[in-house]
Amino acid sequence: MVTEITIQDSERKMLSEAGYGDPAIEYYLGKKHMGSIENANQISFKVGSCGDTMKIYLKVDEDEIVQDAKYEITGCAGAISAAMATVDLVKGKTVDQALKINDGDVFRVLESIPEKKHHCIQLAVKTMHQGLEEFQMAHVS
Ligand SMILES: [Zn+2]
Repeated sequence: MVTEITIQDSERKMLSEAGYGDPAIEYYLGKKHMGSIENANQISFKVGSCGDTMKIYLKVDEDEIVQDAKYEITGCAGAISAAMATVDLVKGKTVDQALKINDGDVFRVLESIPEKKHHCIQLAVKTMHQGLEEFQMAHVS
């Protein structure tokens, strides 16, 4: 019997050994909030100190509820998993509530992420906050 090891399995094992928790690995492999939103009413862009780049697309309704958010990311597994978790935290919340989401909230969702990747969580949260703030400046009087 030959046991087939898929690319995903070996990637999963590698990430786990590097210090990524299971939720972080699922977020990274699933990439469910990756991409763009065609009718976004806010698009913002940020470059992290490590060179990771993130573009955030926000769809906010007239009650200021975040209906949808997506990221386009050039970056590491840490940046991608953190950004995907950040979207799950802000979806369905008001812009004001979403602005209160912090690095600690995202870290708790991911459970574990290598220490040297913590700045990637900060970048994901900062990019989200920048998008929300720029939305407020443009739309809320
Ligand atoms: Zn990174």
